Amino acid sequence: MCAGAISETAEKTWLEDIPEIRSANCWRCGKATPRGYVFCAQCTPRYGETVLLRTAEDHPGKAIFVGSIPLLRVVLERIRGRRVVKWWMGTDALTMWMCPPGMSRWKVLAHQWKMRLLERFIDEHWVTGRRLLEDLRRAHGISPTKVAVVYWPGKYQEPIPLQTHQAFNAVYYDPGGGRFKRWVYGMDVIEALKERFPQVNWIRLDGSQDLRQVLPLADVYVRPSRHDGAPRIVEECRISGVPVIFSEGQEPDVDKIAKELEALLRSKEAGGRAAGPRSQ
Ligand SMILES: [Zn+2]
Repeated sequence: MCAGAISETAEKTWLEDIPEIRSANCWRCGKATPRGYVFCAQCTPRYGETVLLRTAEDHPGKAIFVGSIPLLRVVLERIRGRRVVKWWMGTDALTMWMCPPGMSRWKVLAHQWKMRLLERFIDEHWVTGRRLLEDLRRAHGISPTKVAVVYWPGKYQEPIPLQTHQAFNAVYYDPGGGRFKRWVYGMDVIEALKERFPQVNWIRLDGSQDLRQVLPLADVYVRPSRHDGAPRIVEECRISGVPVIFSEGQEPDVDKIAKELEALLRSKEAGGRAAGPRSQ
């Protein structure tokens, strides 16, 4: 189910020469943004949203499909004369070359065929994070000349003040759902860690919580995902100085994660909070 032969030059292009787009101003409202974010905290799009850029100087007339890309909407935006951008977020890129455990093979094949059909209408492919480039490289027929790395900015772009507290709170993301979501977000790893660290207070995020309530009391954010783009919460934790244990979207190593967690626990027992806001 993999892509065909790719020449050495094309491979080099995929791995090294894909540009990274950043901006000093929000593409929607023009307000200054920190860290080169392309959208400010108010304008950052939701997954599944279609963003129409009208005012941004460098990107006029683009229809940006964040994650999902409905066929009819693409055709409609094309008729309106807009340039179509597919913004790959994570597992949508993965399913371009493999059928992950717990996902319907038919659903994956349908996604691949839809994207092949849409390719001629897509002007640009953006990936949120470099680690998704490998997925697009493996996908059939996507030209590296149409690809750019554009990070998906978080909702919280400034540090959230942390609070001192007694318990050791480890935060993790579990959106619920079936076998596929459990596999991709490493729920088996989280369960193994819960058994090894009963003294830790485990806090589950399902995406509905307000991070301003959760992050101040977090001692670590653990993300043992098997595939990922650039998760916004990882960036949000780092900005606020919450230590992150992240598998970088590779097969998570439980022992390695346990060691890192152990070190953070010891550091807290020794009297310190593990970190303060990142200086940058
Ligand atoms: Zn804005």
